[in-house]
Amino acid sequence: MKQKKDNLLENFDSSKISWLKSGGKIEKLLKINNEVQLEQINAESNSKLNILPIGNFSNLLIKDRGFSGLAVKLTGDFSKITANKDFLLVGAGVLDHFFSQYCYRNKISGYEFLHTIPGSIGGNIFMNAGCYGNEIKDKLISVIYYDIKRSKICEISSQDINFDYRKGFQDPNTLILYGKFKVIIGDQAVIKNIMKENEVKRNQTQPQKVNCCGSIFKNPSNQNAWKLIKSSLDASFYTGPIKLSLKHSNFFENDSNISPDLIENFIKTIQKKVEEKHNIILERELEII
Ligand SMILES: Cc1cc2nc3c(=O)[nH]c(=O)nc-3n(C[C@H](O)[C@H](O)[C@H](O)COP(=O)(O)OP(=O)(O)OC[C@H]3O[C@@H](n4cnc5c(N)ncnc54)[C@H](O)[C@@H]3O)c2cc1C
Repeated sequence: MKQKKDNLLENFDSSKISWLKSGGKIEKLLKINNEVQLEQINAESNSKLNILPIGNFSNLLIKDRGFSGLAVKLTGDFSKITANKDFLLVGAGVLDHFFSQYCYRNKISGYEFLHTIPGSIGGNIFMNAGCYGNEIKDKLISVIYYDIKRSKICEISSQDINFDYRKGFQDPNTLILYGKFKVIIGDQAVIKNIMKENEVKRNQTQPQKVNCCGSIFKNPSNQNAWKLIKSSLDASFYTGPIKLSLKHSNFFENDSNISPDLIENFIKTIQKKVEEKHNIILERELEII
């Protein structure tokens, strides 16, 4: 890995930051600390616009051949939360856990579910992340984003975004900078209870402290991906350097530094087996680049 400028890394090994501890090299990784630095994006991408925004890398895998382009990570000013009278301005780089703790401390309800999701607000808005009956869109007022082609900061109301299950604001050539969120004051003890309950549910039903990416596949309508997987695969899929989790069949666990292409093949094999057994093609939740 070479460091050219203070905020630019070259040939960056993505396994170092990936939740899967696996991944190919990123040609250039640019860390943006404030709005002024946004203009570096076009300069560093040589206007090729092959740009990959990255958040907390909890839902991303870069294949063996690597990513030849510019990855952009928001830090500094974008890792802050600012309280206004009617809304919270939350930087895309703010981690979910941090945001939910902030809301707990300030008696703001509705963000308890983020306590157990390991992403960032930017990744959440892109994915419309959610759990236990909540989604990030629910209390989102608007998204402030950078239009990379026009080098312009813009705002879009959440009502104008076509949110769907695990599909959020995904306009091409845009970088989500902030989310504006509603402020609903609640009871601090109730907020704490919900966070605790969610944590207990997580620990009981999903593997902890392992290399994983959360759910591999989206649930097809009226079906559970884990049930389809469990009924399609034999015991051999639950052992080895990449294996399905015994706690939750829609999760896999992998050894560190295992090849990302092997992970992708494992996922494709699961997809094929489920299709053969149930005639259903599971749609991947994990983003593979
Ligand atoms: C243990 C575990 C449990 C999980 N549980 C859940 C869960 O319950 N519910 C759930 O929904 N997800 C879950 N996930 C998946 C993941 O945490 C979410 O999808 C999360 O929203 C991803 O955020 P991130 O910051 O890590 O994004 P990344 O993984 O870094 O990126 C994901 C996508 O978002 C894009 N992106 C990231 N930041 C920006 C930005 N600023 N502007 C534009 N695009 C951006 C990336 O280009 C990429 O396409 C889990 C993952 C793990 C590892």
